[in-house]
Amino acid sequence: MRSSSLGYPRIGEDREWKRTLEAYWSGKIDESEFTAQLEAIRLGNLQKQKDQGIDIIPVNDFTLYDQMLDMSVMFGLVPERYSAYKGGTVPLSVYYSMARGNKDEVASEMTKWFNTNYHYIVPELKPSKLTLTENKPLASYREAKEKLGIEAKPVLVGPYTFITLSKGYNKQDVPGIILSLLPLYTQILQELEQEGVKWVQMDEPSLVSSISKDDMQTVTYLYEKLNEAAPNLNIMLQTYFDAVEHYQEVIELHVQGIGLDFVHDKGKNLSNLQEFGFPKDKVLGAGVIDGKNIWLSDLSKKNQLINTITKTVAEDQIWLQPSCSLLHVPVTVRNETALTKEVQQALAFADEKLEEITLLVKGSNQGAEAIAEKVAANKLALQTLASSNARNHKDVQTGVEQAKSQTAGRQLPFKERYQKQQEFFKLPFLPSTTIGSFPQTAEVKQARGKFKRGEWTAAQYETFVNEEISKWIDIQEEIGLDVLVHGEFERTDMVEFFGHKLGGFVFLEKGWVQSYGSRCVKPPVIYGDVHFIEPMTVRESVYAQSLTKKTVKGMLTGPVTILNWSFVRDDISRENVCYQLALALEKEVGALETAGIKMIQVDEPALREGLPLKKNDREEYLKWAVNSFLISTSSVEDTTQIHTHMCYCDFNSFMDVISSLDADVISIETSRSHGELASAFEEKTYEKGIGLGVYDIHSPRVPAVEEMVDMIERGIKVLDKDQFWINPDCGLKTRGVPETVASLKNMVEAATIVRKNL
Ligand code: GLN
Ligand code: ZN
Repeated sequence: MRSSSLGYPRIGEDREWKRTLEAYWSGKIDESEFTAQLEAIRLGNLQKQKDQGIDIIPVNDFTLYDQMLDMSVMFGLVPERYSAYKGGTVPLSVYYSMARGNKDEVASEMTKWFNTNYHYIVPELKPSKLTLTENKPLASYREAKEKLGIEAKPVLVGPYTFITLSKGYNKQDVPGIILSLLPLYTQILQELEQEGVKWVQMDEPSLVSSISKDDMQTVTYLYEKLNEAAPNLNIMLQTYFDAVEHYQEVIELHVQGIGLDFVHDKGKNLSNLQEFGFPKDKVLGAGVIDGKNIWLSDLSKKNQLINTITKTVAEDQIWLQPSCSLLHVPVTVRNETALTKEVQQALAFADEKLEEITLLVKGSNQGAEAIAEKVAANKLALQTLASSNARNHKDVQTGVEQAKSQTAGRQLPFKERYQKQQEFFKLPFLPSTTIGSFPQTAEVKQARGKFKRGEWTAAQYETFVNEEISKWIDIQEEIGLDVLVHGEFERTDMVEFFGHKLGGFVFLEKGWVQSYGSRCVKPPVIYGDVHFIEPMTVRESVYAQSLTKKTVKGMLTGPVTILNWSFVRDDISRENVCYQLALALEKEVGALETAGIKMIQVDEPALREGLPLKKNDREEYLKWAVNSFLISTSSVEDTTQIHTHMCYCDFNSFMDVISSLDADVISIETSRSHGELASAFEEKTYEKGIGLGVYDIHSPRVPAVEEMVDMIERGIKVLDKDQFWINPDCGLKTRGVPETVASLKNMVEAATIVRKNL
């Protein structure tokens, strides 16, 4: 048995990759310095994996921004709008214009990589003649060999996944696209073959989504051709994030190895393996260590899994590996010195996961005694955390069992309670409001820094936050908004803030993972039973409400979003963790209501992104996700109005789910997809309150009054004016103050104009 890895975090232990990129962008270092620094990081990453004893080390997983962008650039797929590109190798300046835009040219679209929080740059693909501009996998292979003596495995995104993740073409263009891409893949592989490369890893995660039999035939064709073109090169066809959809076809593909995920497959890859076997002439890349989560593996269980696999597949046919690239976890636990031992020793990031792999391989090759001591230590670490108080809140667990057996819901049906609410709040037609946050200015960030570093007492910080709230209540009144917010000045981040106040969370010091480009996030860690400790938002909301006669809307993050944007314990189901969060938030909603806050927004921007990759699994997820939201929001009086917010949510296909959340009002992003949305309402009726974002907050541009009048008028053509709200399409925390005030003034004026015309 051999050990292998699919990809290593590129950002560095201390985010040195991020700093290098940003230093280059801001002109602090020149291109040669930039290249030298990145080379040091890249080689350091490879050396670490070599020292760890990994047999098959990946290269070309490193990038200057994103691996999908690298593929596009390699294929010369530079959209025409980047006028500096004249063909040939893509210069660094064009590469970064595609990634980030420049002052005249907008960036390429970015979207989520499957069900992770990593975002890739979406290739713009048209059937046309393409030429290879460079062979990056080959260059990385040579580098590893020459500089470190590593016989590495170049990684590239396979053609099927590359095509499915691209945009700019129609279904009928696919054959043409295949014809233009195949020669490029062929050339890459042939050059690798000539170089004497033994293995190449072709990432095909799209094979785990619900793909059709026809598509599977396309995949078969593609790999037949590639194998023919480079018969002496071994292809490891790598899948991850779930079970492959067409197991029997996949194992028959003309490749020499198949990589399967045995962690996130819900047992399906394993049962397929047992039922249909595995070809004797192929290598199995057995993804047994969770590449997406941060917890120590249970080595005894992993040994059992390996034993089950080796009943079907011979040991010398197996590469043991993480379930996916380690890109999705932080680099090492070694730097997490502030955690309690109980938590710290139960964590495993990239380096520790590689250690688990080499350990398990050693156990298989040399016998169980060779690793017995480590397995015992592993068992103890897991037991310690399992038996800790944090994981044994009996009342929380009983609460979850009860909650699961009931369906939560409001007392009155929507129409009846909405009428009561409108009388209660005395709002005009087309009420105007915002999504919650106001600009997090340098001043706000500095104040938080002072408080964190201990330079300010809690009282000083509180005074500062109060002043901001008061300033912005005045501004909102002056602008003439109908429903006000306190502005979220006390929050760094909409999930982290709640994590700090709830029981069951811990925070990492260096636990960064790449989100997109140089942007890294440090998700909170849910390690224990989540529980409510004391009110989290009441003070600020009540203070804001005391300053005005207008309604101030309370502001919470919903259970599903907190779940989806955290690292979640893996000893109980995500469903159960979500219910724990829901019950804690229900208490916060209750506390707000008791304190006189009668309009409460519970944001769920991440509800949609938690959807499982396979269509058949979606219903189950949605059932508990929706029920969790209902638990958090339903035990309020009829007159208390529940709002929710989602950023872009593909309303067309998601309308029924949104409706089942039973929020009285939802605000969503629509300014960039307005036409599409209007047609959704023509086809189906949506009866609840809805605020279609009338301007795009992602740009500093101040939208004109007429533009928004137009937007609102288009909206009320398809929706009842009684249900229509006016708001921007997301929170304003990333915007500057002047543009925010100017935009909101125009928005309110637009609402006034439309009201008069009604
Ligand atoms: N209430 C949050 C804010 O305004 C919502 C953020 C979001 O949708 N991502 O910042
Ligand atoms: Zn949003």
